[in-house]
Amino acid sequence: MNSSIEKHGPASGRDLYDCIVIGAGPAGLSASLFLARYLRRTLTFHHNSPRNEYAHGVHGFLGHHGIRPNELLARGRDEVTSHGGLIVEACVTAVEALSAEHFRVFIGDDKRVFDARRLLLATGLRDLTPNCPGFREFYGASVFHCPDCDGYEIRDKHVAVLAHGNNAVGFTENLLTWTRHITLLTDQHEISNRAKLDALDVAVRNEPVVALEGDTSTGQLQRVMFAEGEALECDALFFNLGTELATDFHETLGCRLDPECGLLWVDETQQTSIKGVYAAGDITPHSQLAVVAAAEGAMAAIHIHRSLNDVSKQL
Ligand SMILES: Cc1cc2nc3c(=O)[nH]c(=O)nc-3n(C[C@H](O)[C@H](O)[C@H](O)COP(=O)(O)OP(=O)(O)OC[C@H]3O[C@@H](n4cnc5c(N)ncnc54)[C@H](O)[C@@H]3O)c2cc1C
Repeated sequence: MNSSIEKHGPASGRDLYDCIVIGAGPAGLSASLFLARYLRRTLTFHHNSPRNEYAHGVHGFLGHHGIRPNELLARGRDEVTSHGGLIVEACVTAVEALSAEHFRVFIGDDKRVFDARRLLLATGLRDLTPNCPGFREFYGASVFHCPDCDGYEIRDKHVAVLAHGNNAVGFTENLLTWTRHITLLTDQHEISNRAKLDALDVAVRNEPVVALEGDTSTGQLQRVMFAEGEALECDALFFNLGTELATDFHETLGCRLDPECGLLWVDETQQTSIKGVYAAGDITPHSQLAVVAAAEGAMAAIHIHRSLNDVSKQL
């Protein structure tokens, strides 16, 4: 635990922070930076890895294109703390709404509690990833999940797409933006609207995928191995197997989910359906990009600050 929390933080929940931010990825850190610059007493928790820990570089973040994810976050943490924000590495294990003006956060096994007038959820998503040997060795270097992030890097290359279900065809079609050399791997699963793939002239392989092989020293994928049949030589693989929310805090708090995508519904101020609880980043229904997450964090902070001002005026 950060020693500054011992000086500044309550152990009993009697002292109220203005805001507790759960998550220190691009969304949480951007919010924390703005809140610190508004001179709000803000406590930010992070635990385990951010979503893009396997990425070799963050693409498309204006002014920081290609920066390593860890470096972007380290710079962000420095910027927050140099403005007086507190960042603590600890696992938030539970949250509780005591009122619309009072939220409680529990951390670690010892169940220490911290209280705040606003809560920002910026806990991100977890990707469902292929379960086959070789995946980790190439993930982030030549195996990707996000066409917006890494599509440009596969221009005119030979690409395998591992996807199934309703999204497989749309996901594959999007990748045709950058290359015509695509083979969709269904791994024995059903896919919807398969006829469209024929119209788009996309090859399909149905056999079970058993391994990814290539040059592990550079992270360069070279082929996909199947349970039967010839290996598929390729330069890259994109997968789309779904995501899940990293925590279930929204359920405890009663935050509504967007019925279409199953992520946290927020209004134009980034407030969830529960007053005083805000959300930003990948857990909300917008493009899942670092720069979007950072922008949402900034928006959340602006509106959290304003909402605290509104309450202060009423007192
Ligand atoms: C392999 C890969 C490559 C990518 N490449 C790009 C790219 O090139 N360009 C781009 O724009 N985007 C890219 N992305 C997407 C980008 O990483 C996400 O959009 C971005 O990280 C979302 O930020 P976030 O703050 O919402 O969540 P995250 O970055 O996932 O951060 C979540 C935070 O919540 C914390 N947390 C979670 N649970 C708890 C808990 N119980 N207690 C305390 N803390 C908790 C975590 O510690 C973390 O700090 C990539 C993603 C992946 C997986």
